[in-house]
Amino acid sequence: MLCSRATARHLARYAKRWQHTSARPALNSVTPDDIAHFAQFLPQNAILSTLSPVSVAPAEIEQYNSDWMGKYRGKSTTVLRPHTTEQVSKILKWCHERRIGVVPQGGNTGLVGGSVPIEDELILSLGNMSKVRSFDPVSGALVADAGCILEALTEHIATHDHIMPLDLGAKGSCQIGGNVSTNAGGLRLLRYGSLHGSVLGLEVVLPDGTILDNLSTLRKDNTGYDLKQLFIGAEGTLGVVTGVSILTSAAPRAVNNVILALPRFENVLPLFKSTRRHLSEILSAFEFIDRTAYELAVKHGQGKGLTNEESEGAECFVLLETSGGSKEHDEEKLNALLETLLESDPPLINTGVLSQSPTQFASLWRLREGVTEAVSKEGKAYKYDISIPLASFKDVVDATKEQLRKKGLLHENAVKHVLGYGHVGDGNLHLNIVAAAYTQEIEAALEPFVYELVSSYKGSISAEHGIGAMKTHAIHYSKSAVAVDVMKRIKHLFDPHGIMNPGKVLE
Ligand SMILES: Cc1cc2nc3c(=O)[nH]c(=O)nc-3n(C[C@H](O)[C@H](O)[C@H](O)COP(=O)(O)OP(=O)(O)OC[C@H]3O[C@@H](n4cnc5c(N)ncnc54)[C@H](O)[C@@H]3O)c2cc1C
Repeated sequence: MLCSRATARHLARYAKRWQHTSARPALNSVTPDDIAHFAQFLPQNAILSTLSPVSVAPAEIEQYNSDWMGKYRGKSTTVLRPHTTEQVSKILKWCHERRIGVVPQGGNTGLVGGSVPIEDELILSLGNMSKVRSFDPVSGALVADAGCILEALTEHIATHDHIMPLDLGAKGSCQIGGNVSTNAGGLRLLRYGSLHGSVLGLEVVLPDGTILDNLSTLRKDNTGYDLKQLFIGAEGTLGVVTGVSILTSAAPRAVNNVILALPRFENVLPLFKSTRRHLSEILSAFEFIDRTAYELAVKHGQGKGLTNEESEGAECFVLLETSGGSKEHDEEKLNALLETLLESDPPLINTGVLSQSPTQFASLWRLREGVTEAVSKEGKAYKYDISIPLASFKDVVDATKEQLRKKGLLHENAVKHVLGYGHVGDGNLHLNIVAAAYTQEIEAALEPFVYELVSSYKGSISAEHGIGAMKTHAIHYSKSAVAVDVMKRIKHLFDPHGIMNPGKVLE
């Protein structure tokens, strides 16, 4: 069989990946005896297994085996849904002794294939651990089970006039334990910083079942190594996060948002500079949507933006949010900004629409947050979540389009759209390639092309989604050999049998 050079490279890489996979310690499959053991300390409804005497519909397991994008699929026979940290500890202790691979799963909204098994590893779902343990309205410290849904926590502390330091489009399904394990960024990072700053403490069950109770609510604690940092962004490869202590903030008294239509991409950078200067402390989000992303969000009914006349001629859009202490003061600042932008010569924006009601405010946010969902409704998405200098966002999207065009793949039956959107304020672009189907030919055209491109800008191949199963082979584009070696040594120290989320993050 003849294959193109790119396809041959792709196959060679897969062969290499397989060799690495086979070099990992051998792991055992779950057996009926294991199920009998788990049944000694877990209630019946916490065990979903095709090996269990209680019959289970395959569809029930299937939803845990496949990821949000429908791109990654495992073959697990067993999902355990513990209710307590002690139960998690007993499960891991057993799996450690029996050398059974374990995949921790939160809301299963991850976008890099980290939350589903590669083979038939046991899935440990945290969904039943969903209690708020405590909230201190004076310090803002919230302590919750790892399985709490982000939106539920947001609603819980809203009653105390507080907000979570993170927000993302998947908030209705993702869990705080998953957020911590992926070091999720999201829409509020510009204002509240990363989880490495806002997480105060963690409770983690280590691979051998030891419970590491580090659930501090202190803001300052310089007693030796800051162990929690290792688990933030570890993607379930070092242990299972069972509890999270996180610093929340007093809710702002006034929030506003505005959508801006820009005639040219080149205006984004001066717009960002001008916005920061004018809005300073009240700027809380600065999100970028290119024309294709905007049109897909509108097409798939994700919120309302501008009218057709208002959006006409715009190459891209920016959604700005302010959070401050006084509505009049903030609106005054925003209006002054809009005037400056419209009066600059040539104007930096075509138009800007300020939300006038809570409904409009929510609708503008839905438009931005809905891009991810719109993309998945449009087709199969190859998602690259990259950090690069802001000025190069458009060049990266254009270069990717050109690469696909050169390969003859830019048409309705292969790649339908190449688009960019993301958290510009954080230098984070979501480069999405929307295809009719996932094919090896498209993947071979995109990889390592995209990673090399990112590397040429000294960027990161993963700004916030993580490495998961998708990018293990590409980690060297963003981490030195020494750094990867240290990571492997840490992994071995915590998990000598390699049971935790095998095949993720590190090959
Ligand atoms: C519509 C949409 C919008 C999104 N927007 C953003 C965004 O703006 N910013 C962003 O960063 N991400 C975003 N994501 C990606 C995803 O939502 C985040 O990565 C989220 O933090 C994952 O949480 P989860 O509970 O779904 O975790 P899962 O998908 O279940 O798991 C993700 C990883 O964490 C591990 N894990 C999960 N729970 C635990 C635990 N308790 N202990 C140890 N390991 C665990 C899993 O093994 C896996 O490796 C988006 C996804 C969607 C679908």
